[in-house]
Amino acid sequence: MKICRFLSSAFEDLKMNLKDDITKIRGIGEKSAEAFYAAGIYTVNGLLHYFPRNYSSMPEAVKIKDITKEGRRTVYGKIMNTPAMFGRGGRTILSFLISDGTGRIKVNLFNMPYMRKSIQPGRQCYFSGLCTLKGTEILMSQPKFLTEEQYEESCGRLSPVYPLRKDLTNTKLQKALKEVLPLCTEIKEYLPSEILAGEDLLPIPQAIRQMHFPENMEDVYAARKRLAFDEFFLFLARMELLKQGPEKRESLYVCAEECSKSAAEQLLSKLPYELTGAQKRTILEIQKDLASGYCMNRLVQGDVGSGKTVVAFAAALAVVAAGSQAALMAPTEVLAAQHYKDICKMSADYDLPFKPALLTGSVKASEKRQIKEKIAAGEINFMIGTQALIQEDVEAKDLALIITDEQHRFGVRQRMDLAGKGREPHVLVMSATPIPRTLGLILYGDLDVSLIDELPAKRLPIKNTVVDGSYRTKLYQFILKRISEGRQAYIICPMVESGEDECEATEGLANVVDYSEELRKKFPPEVTVDMLHGRMKPAEKNEVMRRFACGETKVLVSTTVVEVGVNVPNATVMMVENAERFGLAQLHQLRGRVGRGEWQSYCIFVSGGEDGEMSKRTQERLHILSETNDGFKIAEEDLKQRGPGDFFGLRQSGLPYFKIADIYTDADLLKRVKPIVQKICREDSESLRNLRAALIEKEEMDYIDFHGICL
Ligand code: ADP
Ligand code: MG
Repeated sequence: MKICRFLSSAFEDLKMNLKDDITKIRGIGEKSAEAFYAAGIYTVNGLLHYFPRNYSSMPEAVKIKDITKEGRRTVYGKIMNTPAMFGRGGRTILSFLISDGTGRIKVNLFNMPYMRKSIQPGRQCYFSGLCTLKGTEILMSQPKFLTEEQYEESCGRLSPVYPLRKDLTNTKLQKALKEVLPLCTEIKEYLPSEILAGEDLLPIPQAIRQMHFPENMEDVYAARKRLAFDEFFLFLARMELLKQGPEKRESLYVCAEECSKSAAEQLLSKLPYELTGAQKRTILEIQKDLASGYCMNRLVQGDVGSGKTVVAFAAALAVVAAGSQAALMAPTEVLAAQHYKDICKMSADYDLPFKPALLTGSVKASEKRQIKEKIAAGEINFMIGTQALIQEDVEAKDLALIITDEQHRFGVRQRMDLAGKGREPHVLVMSATPIPRTLGLILYGDLDVSLIDELPAKRLPIKNTVVDGSYRTKLYQFILKRISEGRQAYIICPMVESGEDECEATEGLANVVDYSEELRKKFPPEVTVDMLHGRMKPAEKNEVMRRFACGETKVLVSTTVVEVGVNVPNATVMMVENAERFGLAQLHQLRGRVGRGEWQSYCIFVSGGEDGEMSKRTQERLHILSETNDGFKIAEEDLKQRGPGDFFGLRQSGLPYFKIADIYTDADLLKRVKPIVQKICREDSESLRNLRAALIEKEEMDYIDFHGICL
């Protein structure tokens, strides 16, 4: 009897379920799990929802002599020599030759030293990988090795290409996904069958399966439609359910208007600039909300550089002056640290009643404990941080206002976590994402919206140019000139390291590591060059940002980590390498990092290809940027050019909530979803119960998801 129970529980243990940690998956140990965690994949369910960003199909084999153009190729060849192994730029490279009797190819494998043994001279197999031409030499990087059987099986089939991180290869992801795919059936369908039929949607398990391993592109489109529908559906349902209950919730935190006004006056009268009309209007709207006796729920939307931060500070000041506490959440540690620094400085300079604290993932445990005690005791009245702020059960004494900067998460749970029980705080959300008005109404129906549609007057418009790589030497001279005048520069590269992506043409793309190394050699030693990317530890990143912000570093070579909200007014040059690889909205955000001070700023988009041949389409795309600084217009124009089918292009909205859906290209779908959501949410039915359950699951998953993604 006992043994029986023991056996059955052991069996239970073996059975995976969706919420299990990924170490439960066969082939993933503690160590390899790290790479998955780093990509934000924690659970089986998280893995199932980690979707490919593209698909590749292996091309049919060709003779080596017929390879005259660059691109992905498959050849059947023989290994000619023992591989040479060497290191370069922190990577190990294995290099060897293959031949098929019609020609030779030099093969490079990056960071795969363990492959050395399997590269036996004389071995014959299929090699499939990206070929580049260097003079008469053909190079193939990171090829797949396939037996005849494997070749037959995969030829012409679509194979998923996942977003990769260090140590997380496509092969690992595919293998892990094949293990967990059967569990798709356990994901509950929450949509009533009439809706599935009426909207022509796949059942959820099938959609997920097809997204990972489609037979053809039709499969992908159908799967994507279902998943995009779900994202909109759940988002809107969450908003709809949040809204239910009394239309307006009474607030315990009432700040009398005179009081907020005189507090704000203390700040505004001392600022070195006059607020824009739009900023003044927004602050006024916030003050009215805070005095109304109801909970504020306001979205402040303003383009990059429109001055949202000072508006947020004025709001926090009103609450603090009334004796309560405020919290500001930023999406990245870098940004949180910057806000913290600004508020400390203002507090000291203008004699404001803020007692701020910075609370992020990289604050030491002992320090965190102290800060939390002070927050609980009310000795700190303005806490600034990343999501860590909420995750770590902060008990505020008297939290009256939550501000979230540059993000769109209104999880019911997050709000409650911060607020403590029964006391609902005011909520202010700041966003630079340009959302056309009609869509804004659908997305943020229950929020009041303040538009900051005016840029500070004294700004000189940013000068833009689009050039190809042949201008690089001139550009460096230009940058050195600006630096000699006391300014600083950003240079953005699309990659962190070379060869980090085994599936795509990354050869020739600028990467942060090599690029900064080369610049250091090229520039005189007093021109300090530093680098910043998402794989650095938060503390390192903060330190790099600190050095750049105080002018110690002159040139910052970075990935798009700096895209969100960073403010270093002394930086006046933004140079973007391989600009064709970025979405226009993203480039617009990057450009927003300069033009923040009194000096003329420059934005230089360098398109890839040394030879001066820039594709016409890329040029057209980039020219939109040089013609306008208006975020809305850029989004619209880009949409026109890309066309709705082009969904694997560059993601536009940057709304972290939507991984698959795109509010621009899927605008029609979004509009259709709204009434369906309303209908379900307003009837008390089986469907609503299912929906609630799905929402809780989703929220839990997002919550876990977000844990790791805090840059
Ligand atoms: P964003 O809206 O992108 O968050 P910030 O709040 O970071 O913009 O503001 C960008 C820069 O503009 C900051 O250096 C800020 O001090 C400055 N700024 C804000 N408002 C004004 C104004 N009315 N006049 C001049 N400069 C301003
Ligand atoms: Mg900002």
